[in-house]
Amino acid sequence: METRYFNAVKQPEAGTKLGGSVIRSGGLVAFPTETVYGLGANGLDGEAVNKIFEAKGRPNDNPLILHIAKKSDLKELWKSVPERARLLMDEFWPGPLTMVYLKSSRVPEEVTGGLDTVAVRMPDNRTALALIRAAGVPIAAPSANLSGKPSPTTADHVKADMNGRIDVIIDGGPCNIGVESTVVSLMGGAVTILRPGGITREMLEAVIGPVNLSPAVLAPLKQGEAAASPGMKYRHYAPDAQVIVGTGSLPDMAAKLIAEYDRREAEGLACIIFATEETRCFYRGKRYVIIGERKNPLTLCESLFAQFRAQEGKADVILCEALPETDMGLAYMNRLLRSAGFKTI
Ligand code: AMP
Ligand code: MG
Repeated sequence: METRYFNAVKQPEAGTKLGGSVIRSGGLVAFPTETVYGLGANGLDGEAVNKIFEAKGRPNDNPLILHIAKKSDLKELWKSVPERARLLMDEFWPGPLTMVYLKSSRVPEEVTGGLDTVAVRMPDNRTALALIRAAGVPIAAPSANLSGKPSPTTADHVKADMNGRIDVIIDGGPCNIGVESTVVSLMGGAVTILRPGGITREMLEAVIGPVNLSPAVLAPLKQGEAAASPGMKYRHYAPDAQVIVGTGSLPDMAAKLIAEYDRREAEGLACIIFATEETRCFYRGKRYVIIGERKNPLTLCESLFAQFRAQEGKADVILCEALPETDMGLAYMNRLLRSAGFKTI
């Protein structure tokens, strides 16, 4: 199949207009959001949704998020809208918050991987919202990467993975958050973070009081343990290289990363350190790249996946720094630990 390209800045309407009709007629459109690029299909059409799983090579039991363009569309997708959902969407929509609750009969089982709940969000991106409006249906969309690869934060990343597999790519420039949305479950009368993201635990708690954190956010699932969020079962965000995470106080952590660097280089492996503005001084004489600032973890989230992709075919080992697991540091550590298969030193 030939993939058609549109630039959302130069042709703001052409892409969303054609994209909307492609989605309505059962095709696939990749589009920018504030988090990462999404790969969209008609969320009310099970057959169209199946094409997403095919194009990505994604396991069918890993459910998708439905994207809507106005808050009032939520009530058609859920059985009912609990009060805590209203509070959260009034504060955080449009934005990087996905909420999971009991689905209505309109939502096909292909979207939910057979679960009786469905995940919904309203993205904060002009092109994404225009595309959903043009389609006239909720858009089911996971990240627009091949399953297992780092999520795409530019249209070039999407092209690298999806060229020839999907109908349309709309280029809206680089995504400004760079990690996927926060996913919360509203089941059981509570609010539980299944995946941390741009809306932090601290922000949620300021609006709604205490919020639970699923144990799978920072640790691998134990054998035989059921995943609250099916996506947590799978290896994620994995670059070609092996990722290793250094922990401890800054000088200790840097010393461990350098020792590992020297050991692996001696084995003939190409190493690179993902350094930060604050820690570059520790890595003099080593190969490193500065990926952001520790004092502003959003900068690290923004560039992590792009930096992984930039190392493809170059580094065998990527040495990274752990961050405190607060505010955006929680989302960063969730992605980093999964990329590393939880290998820390
Ligand atoms: P992605 O679309 O690749 O960003 O992944 C969507 C994430 O949302 C996955 O980790 C899913 O497991 C999670 N998710 C989607 N729907 C549900 C649901 N009904 N219950 C729990 N988690 C969900
Ligand atoms: Mg994904």
